Amino acid sequence: QSLQQIFDRLKPELCQLSSVDAQMKLLVERLQLGENEKKARGLVVQLLQEVFVEFFPDSQILLFGSSVNTFGIHSCDLDLFLDLENTKTFQARAKTSTEQAGEGVSDDGRSEDSILSDIDLSTASAAEVLELVATILKRCVPSVHKVHVVSTARLPVVKYHHRELNLHGDITLNNRLGVRNTRFLQLLSGLEERLRPLVFTVRYWAKQKQIAGNPSGAGPLLNNYALTLLVVFFLQNCRPPVLPTVDQLRDMACEEEECVIDGWNCTFPSQPIAVQPSQNTQDLCSLLAGFFTFYTQFDFPSSIISLRQGCALPITDFLSQAKDGKASPEGPASEPKLGPLNLLDPFELSHNVAGNVNERSLCSFQKACQEADKFCRSPRYQNKSSKGKSWGLGRLLAPLGAAQQAHPERLVITIPFRTAALPEGLRGELHSAGDGFRLLWSRKVCSAVEVVLKNVLRCELEASTAPGPEEMETTLNDSTQSVESNSDGSPQRTGTKRPLPSGSDDSATPPGKKLRLARTAKADFPPWVCVQKHAVWVGRRKVRRELVKGPDIRPEGSCLELESQVTASIADKEPELKDPLEFKVCPQTVGGTENTRLLLNVEPGSDKAGVFHDFFHFLEVFVPKMVETVLESGAGSA
Ligand code: ATP
Ligand code: MG
Repeated sequence: QSLQQIFDRLKPELCQLSSVDAQMKLLVERLQLGENEKKARGLVVQLLQEVFVEFFPDSQILLFGSSVNTFGIHSCDLDLFLDLENTKTFQARAKTSTEQAGEGVSDDGRSEDSILSDIDLSTASAAEVLELVATILKRCVPSVHKVHVVSTARLPVVKYHHRELNLHGDITLNNRLGVRNTRFLQLLSGLEERLRPLVFTVRYWAKQKQIAGNPSGAGPLLNNYALTLLVVFFLQNCRPPVLPTVDQLRDMACEEEECVIDGWNCTFPSQPIAVQPSQNTQDLCSLLAGFFTFYTQFDFPSSIISLRQGCALPITDFLSQAKDGKASPEGPASEPKLGPLNLLDPFELSHNVAGNVNERSLCSFQKACQEADKFCRSPRYQNKSSKGKSWGLGRLLAPLGAAQQAHPERLVITIPFRTAALPEGLRGELHSAGDGFRLLWSRKVCSAVEVVLKNVLRCELEASTAPGPEEMETTLNDSTQSVESNSDGSPQRTGTKRPLPSGSDDSATPPGKKLRLARTAKADFPPWVCVQKHAVWVGRRKVRRELVKGPDIRPEGSCLELESQVTASIADKEPELKDPLEFKVCPQTVGGTENTRLLLNVEPGSDKAGVFHDFFHFLEVFVPKMVETVLESGAGSA
């Protein structure tokens, strides 16, 4: 049964309940692993253990991940860790005694033991051992098929599928930290009963909205482990806190519970009883709404999420500390891979659990949080509909509509008019322009946009025939579809031409409710037709850090020269895109005096490399910041 089928059956049941709390509890009941499933998984583990011990004497198979971390659902995979520490000792002993007895290595190629004698565990690479594990799985374990080694993952794994149970699984080596963080999540569930319903709901919501839930490491989406940590972090930040910080838990542990793995302190109490219950009495309904508000407002670009300290660390402090070697006083010094979303593992402090997440995925996550936050403020979140309409989780967890899937975002970059951000000279100029300030400001901003595209990002700008204002409106009308809300809140593409009300602007339109690009003031600047040959948005942070080489870490978009150098460095060192990306940017001034803004409507042209969306999400954040910098520096004054 797919999750979608489960939801179709679940929805009427959810809507009949009388509170969101009851809905969340029902969700857990319906999704969680049943006793029989757990037993079946246990039997698979037992079978594997029996087979592996034949080849790897004294080895141990340990379960970790969602099968045992209390957050497992019907379809979750079976994460296993093959612990070969004892086998290594066994092998070393066997080697010594063989040498002492003066015997040679067995030449009986068919004996099962000889597989182990083929490999020296003290020197073999993980990939070699995993190949061996894969061979054993293929040859000796019935019902297991589709066996393959993924050696490129951060932690190399052997993947397999169990036919009868329709179960996907992973086997890793050296994954004590995985076993320990699983134990940690078990502890948290044991000490706070609101955690499971929250995690189940958030995981399910994220899956329905297609923003998370992919197998770890594959692709740019948040995985379930990262998502669970985001819930924990939110609960640490409630007032009063629902969960303690990892540092606090460490201090509550006794001496026997001390645990250090690979140099990282992983100490916490083994039993929930050692931890004081939370003073927070919020119900599930308000905590769930709080989660969405928290991440709608969260400042991702400048923060590093630390569950250990239970707070967001300013990224600049973190980087300068890392330079001084103080970033991880708890463990081996090395820096995490920073990205748009920085979420430190609770124990392995040099690991960004969300290092795979790109700008686009983060943006989708934030947008989904915003929508959920908005819905949670409406009466249809908490109040059961008397007319039998969907409400609460019945609506919050609805899958994306077809229109949203096809067009997950509006491809518009907004640059707001803010006098505070303008240099004094320009402010004076605008002031003296009187009614013409909008036109003047738009021109200045358009010039700055051109500087950003051409000089900072090295886009080749092709000459485009500048349409007159009337023609421009028609172009925009054709190329951009209006987005309106359906009655259920999901965007609907109408795509129909609208009559242009003469001289109107959209100042009366509530922000975010209706985006009618056609109803704008006359466009006053021609579009840019651009070609980008390099993936100048990939790895910018790293290149910037390398170029700055000092404690003075300037935030992205704050220095014209530096950003141009970053682009140049990427363009020089990295290979060109397989096929250049072509796109068009149409500027448009909208809004009344109060909320004047310039919209940049970005449209893909040729995108054979399939990178347009990633580039757009980079531009969406980068261009407004960079334009401000250009205006301040006066470099864009046409
Ligand atoms: P599910 O299998 O339901 O998606 P899960 O919690 O088992 O959820 P997996 O992606 O299968 O998640 O990962 C299994 C375990 O591997 C996690 O519980 C965690 O211990 C570890 N893990 C997964 N992803 C990461 C990561 N990005 N960084 C560190 N550890 C991770
Ligand atoms: Mg798993």
